[in-house]
Amino acid sequence: MYGNGQAPIFILKEGTQRTRGRSAQSNNIAAAKAVADSVRSTLGPKGMDKMLVDSMGDVVITNDGATILKEMDIEHPAAKMIIEVAKTQEQHCYDGTTSAVVLSGELLKRSEDLIEQNVHPTVICEGFRLAAEKAISLLERHGISTEGNDEVLLEVAKTSLTGKSAGAVKAFMADICVRAVNAVGVIDEGERIVDLSDIKVEKRQGGSIKDSSLIDGILLDKERVHAGMPRSINDAKIALVNSAIEVKKTEVDAKIQITDPNQLASFLAEEENYIRGLVEKITASGANVLVCQKGIDELAQHYLSKAGVFAIRRAKKSDMEALSKATGGRIVTNMDDLTGEDLGQAARVEERKIGESDMTFITGCPEAKSVSVLLRGGTEHVVDEIRRAFDDAVGVVSVAWEDGAVLTGGGSVLAALSRDLRTYAETIGGREQMAIEAFASALEIIPRTLAENAGLDPVTTIIALRKAHADGDSHAGINVYEGGVVDMQAANVLEPVRVVEQAIQSATETAIMILRIDDVISSKGVSMADGFGGEDDFHM
Ligand code: ADP
Ligand code: MG
Repeated sequence: MYGNGQAPIFILKEGTQRTRGRSAQSNNIAAAKAVADSVRSTLGPKGMDKMLVDSMGDVVITNDGATILKEMDIEHPAAKMIIEVAKTQEQHCYDGTTSAVVLSGELLKRSEDLIEQNVHPTVICEGFRLAAEKAISLLERHGISTEGNDEVLLEVAKTSLTGKSAGAVKAFMADICVRAVNAVGVIDEGERIVDLSDIKVEKRQGGSIKDSSLIDGILLDKERVHAGMPRSINDAKIALVNSAIEVKKTEVDAKIQITDPNQLASFLAEEENYIRGLVEKITASGANVLVCQKGIDELAQHYLSKAGVFAIRRAKKSDMEALSKATGGRIVTNMDDLTGEDLGQAARVEERKIGESDMTFITGCPEAKSVSVLLRGGTEHVVDEIRRAFDDAVGVVSVAWEDGAVLTGGGSVLAALSRDLRTYAETIGGREQMAIEAFASALEIIPRTLAENAGLDPVTTIIALRKAHADGDSHAGINVYEGGVVDMQAANVLEPVRVVEQAIQSATETAIMILRIDDVISSKGVSMADGFGGEDDFHM
């Protein structure tokens, strides 16, 4: 049987790496901190940009935390968990990614200090959990209502655009964001919902950012198929078709032998009649605009043009659906089914030259709960960065619209929470108190980093900030322009409640998850040590 002195049992495959205990912990923490440090310098309006060059040599210039982390090729599993924080933040809030990542890094850094003082990781986790719960419950009292208050929404958009390349035209872009969100937001049985897919964004290189615009309707990156068609149509009746307007191809390869030139003529005439029939079905329905998801052959283009129909081919499926929703039209597959009742309506359909090419504007739709935004910018890099900035800003405004409340930024709310958590910690006592205090200090990483990135002295700034909050000024935050602290409500630095709430929540959850790991078993080929200066006992 299995007595003493038996041969060692190998339960893991050869080449498997294993790290345990303290060294697993400190390796994971080091990796997570490295990720947080990599984006720290981009935080806030005075944050710097990063230039990312991928293996193909393509360049992205951005200071958007989520974008930076997405582009970085990260291998370490704990580092990847931090990137998940950024992803979650981006998905739920469209903003606050850098803050969430920086906060998780700081929570882990503070835990390391506690571990060194022999506080057990499970105690730290419990303290962090209590602190996060308390912090989130305290957020409500700092909220400022957005209800029917476009000014607040405009400031939220402007705060999100600050420090990005679109920052120079903040007011202009903010206005587009707020009008777009107000146009598509609905209140359904008391629930406030903004479906961002109702805001369709098209970007076009050329012109300047100020040439961007909000279109009350749908914008298609398409031109009419035939130059003989009218450029614009008023009182449009739109047929939405998702089958091709061309001679049907047979399923099987068939050969027709023609022995007499008359036969050829009648064969072609047959085809021509078929196409003409399709076009007649369209005009007979009363349509003067045709949007086709598939192709329209040349002959059909010719007949449509003669009939004065404005036609577009190869429209995207998503555009067909958006058009159907906005114009009230039904998407038809079989042309025999097309009747006047299937047609969508719009006050105007017009082709306009934007930059190098033409686009089609469909405006004045009766049921338009959807809008389009056309973004312009000098070069491809500019338009792309504008697009990212716009997506974030419109996302943040939608979140604020749904939340119905916002918080003051610039580190003000986190400083207030930090103050309140210190008081709360005293009511808990014991070692958990130490963890809650560490959590409270960790929250100050945001104002401290904002100060550092603005070239201010972090120590004097944080002292001034603590003093303001001790005196009861809960809106005091970092004055990144002149130094010292300033009332963030007066400075109009506002962000949705959800951005702060989610950042605290996911930073805490991830820190806890990483802290609870004391054994890392990784199969061959996954390197745990690369670039993070971890400990050395990776092999068992
Ligand atoms: P994130 O990816 O976390 O959104 P940002 O670079 O957008 O990172 O920085 C956001 C931080 O900058 C927030 O804490 C926000 O309150 C702060 N902030 C934005 N505008 C200002 C301002 N004018 N003054 C001070 N802080 C600001
Ligand atoms: Mg931001």
